[in-house]
Amino acid sequence: MCGIVGYIGRRNSLSILMEGLKRLEYRGYDSAGVAVINDSKDINFFKKAGKVKEIEEHFDPDALSGTTGIGHTRWATHGAPNDTNAHPHFDMGKNIAIVHNGIIENYKSLKRKLESAGFSFSTETDTEVLANLIEFHFRNTNDFEKAVRIALTDVEGTYGIAILNKKEPDKIIIARMGSPLMLGLGKDETIISSDAAAIINHTKNVIYLEDGEMAVIKRDSFQIKTISDEDIFREVQKIEFDLTEIEKSGFEHFMLKEICEQPDSIQNTYRGRINFETGVVKLGGLENVSDKLFNAKRIIITGCGTAWHAGLVGEYMLEHYCRIPAEVEYASEFRYRNPIINRDDVVILISQSGETADTRAAMKEAQRLGATTIGIVNVVGSTIAREVDAGTYIHAGPEIGVASTKAFTSQLMSLALITLMIANNKGTLSEKQLIEIASEVKVLPEKMKHIIDKRNDYKFIAEEFKDAKNFLYLGRGFNFPVALEGALKLKEISYIHAEGYPAAEMKHGPIALIDENMPVVFIAPKDSTYDKIISNIEEIKARKGKIITIANEDDMEISNYSDYVLRVPASVPLFAPILNSIPLQFLSYYIAAARNCNVDQPRNLAKSVTVE
Ligand code: GLU
Repeated sequence: MCGIVGYIGRRNSLSILMEGLKRLEYRGYDSAGVAVINDSKDINFFKKAGKVKEIEEHFDPDALSGTTGIGHTRWATHGAPNDTNAHPHFDMGKNIAIVHNGIIENYKSLKRKLESAGFSFSTETDTEVLANLIEFHFRNTNDFEKAVRIALTDVEGTYGIAILNKKEPDKIIIARMGSPLMLGLGKDETIISSDAAAIINHTKNVIYLEDGEMAVIKRDSFQIKTISDEDIFREVQKIEFDLTEIEKSGFEHFMLKEICEQPDSIQNTYRGRINFETGVVKLGGLENVSDKLFNAKRIIITGCGTAWHAGLVGEYMLEHYCRIPAEVEYASEFRYRNPIINRDDVVILISQSGETADTRAAMKEAQRLGATTIGIVNVVGSTIAREVDAGTYIHAGPEIGVASTKAFTSQLMSLALITLMIANNKGTLSEKQLIEIASEVKVLPEKMKHIIDKRNDYKFIAEEFKDAKNFLYLGRGFNFPVALEGALKLKEISYIHAEGYPAAEMKHGPIALIDENMPVVFIAPKDSTYDKIISNIEEIKARKGKIITIANEDDMEISNYSDYVLRVPASVPLFAPILNSIPLQFLSYYIAAARNCNVDQPRNLAKSVTVE
């Protein structure tokens, strides 16, 4: 949540900051702002509620010139998303300017102390307290770096921060605890950012800051230290993706582009990891924990939102194909409920960004309790990816749309690969079965493409249902979590209330909602639950609900029961959720587009939830 950008070098910083903010805007879009130090060593700034593009129309670029600056796009945690609470924030004398991602948990007590020392505040944010705290210590030490260091030892909570001080205008100081920050190293310039999106256009050489570290960045040098003043040497790493991957490439929205990219992203997830002749899967990143994984008494999968839904499918996969007990937990609950975890347990953490605060905390808790932790992560070099015992990247490429699509299907593929690897080791799948499943992997991208090619069919249904007030999504077995994910997608981007249920559960309550205005989406592939699903459809039909089914291409019978049928190619249970998710993604996308919703920046949401 929230994007931070900074620039120090020889170029005018404003255009670099604004371009960076546009690329980071998916992380938060309540407000945006920049602060720049000019040649006369004054800090000029502009900040405003609204989208980066709107803000740009309101400032005079000449008033914001200078070669050192910081910027921020906000996802408000403390204080309304208005102009005043927008970042950057300042100390009362406007010496210090700061942008912040995270939450200063003890800001109230710090504020009281500062107030009794004569400081006053003009915003509702936790961040302004930090600006004043740094100024307070600067007054005592007359040393910017020392002042930041002392201030941070007083702080409880999470932060990624970038700070300017007009009394030491030749530097930017950054620090991190729980919120991502990286340095992009160009020639005589450094770009600071929450993620690589704001850096890639300038350099591919990056350094990731770790928790408890800070850096003093000057025009042609930088120094990383711990907050307790020990020197750190950190290797330079290369960003692995290209600029084109974070641009819309002619699509109207990132979400649509990302849905359509799935035949490629899924291939990137399994490429080089499965032998199609033998069905044997090799995941290099898990080799060091393979003993633990193969002998696990129990596997716990945890994540938030869409990643949690992927985990639910994973539970079905692991129990069905490997006969290992599996449990799925919301990361936010796992971390605080004193879970019973043993050394023989394996905990799988799923996070697209690798920065999700709750998932990271769940990882720490699992590690504290002695379990083996495995990450399923998209963003290379992210915190969870670095801190787990072992992991597998999904390699879905940058996902910019706030509503996750391609990361979800790639998470499912990663879970399927782990399942196949364990099943092979345990012998719960025969060689013949493994080969059959592997041959299904091979044709999956083609099947996905087939669904995507027919996407215009969805527009008509979207028009039909765009004014619905509620939606129900029902599925069974492997496809019950797909129903949950379909409902989440619709809620997220179209603001239509939607619920997902196991289809049989409907009779225990939700059926009371059914009338002629209620659209019900059934996920009804021809698998072992098919006959049961048909009975559930009949039950809805008898109560005049509108039936939309996701069904296999050769299933002609289903048309007798459905008002609308969305066809997908058949697959094995392991991969059917991947195929069945795509029509649901399109359905929510086209409904949201028909309602003129901001698909890529849905209200109140942000990508990568880095606060609790
Ligand atoms: N706590 C800060 C605020 O409310 C930063 C929130 C964020 O990480 O986006 O402004």
